[in-house]
Amino acid sequence: MVLIDTHAHLDDGRFDGDIAEVVARAAEAGLSHIITVATDGASCRAAIALAERFPMLRVGVGLHPNYVAEAPATDWDIVLELAGHPSVVAIGETGLDRHWDKTPFPQQEESFARHLELAHRLDKPIVIHAREAEEDVARMIKQAFDARGPVKGVLHSYTGPIGPALEGVQAGLHVSFAGMLTYKTADNVREVAKQIPLDRLLVETDAPYLAPVPHRGRRNEPAHVIHTAKQLADVRGIPWIEMAAITTANAKRLFSLS
Ligand SMILES: [Zn+2]
Repeated sequence: MVLIDTHAHLDDGRFDGDIAEVVARAAEAGLSHIITVATDGASCRAAIALAERFPMLRVGVGLHPNYVAEAPATDWDIVLELAGHPSVVAIGETGLDRHWDKTPFPQQEESFARHLELAHRLDKPIVIHAREAEEDVARMIKQAFDARGPVKGVLHSYTGPIGPALEGVQAGLHVSFAGMLTYKTADNVREVAKQIPLDRLLVETDAPYLAPVPHRGRRNEPAHVIHTAKQLADVRGIPWIEMAAITTANAKRLFSLS
């Protein structure tokens, strides 16, 4: 049994004291890779430094939509500089967010468009955050698809309606589920998970956030991805070992992991 956590934020300060133990527990739990996803320029550098320290880590470089407004303009230069680094397997975290009002929406759209263009140019998958803006994300993905063809990437920690998720799948995207899938009240998320083609499913932790049951409410970490994978297997009615194999194969293919 091998699992991959396709989305964690290991440069988060909450891991400063015990990052080596966190990575060791992930390896013990059967994970082959963790993709640590950056949110601003400093986070891009920190994520790459971690990947140089821990061989099972890979990196996404990008500017999170909620941090675009406050990020210095030079942060985009950092993304461009680091995007070709050997440990970088994805562009992001980017996307659109109407829940928080931290970056004016047009500025989020402009940043998302830049990330889409960069990911296409480098032929790397894009990591997309969509929060209360799933229709807007689907609209921009369709524009990218119409302009340049299939969009390689992932709608990460997806909790939105089924429509935009399937539009994303149509355009080439994968859909990734995090700990919310295990929450008692999240029937809507499980309903969506039932309808995504098996070859487009991924699992993640989004650690340190969104710890799955039975760790809910505490700091999340990559080893906990197993609970989300087991829940996803239940939702799809297939043996969980098979679900682990499917999501791991999908992650390896999408992020070109070896
Ligand atoms: Zn994230």
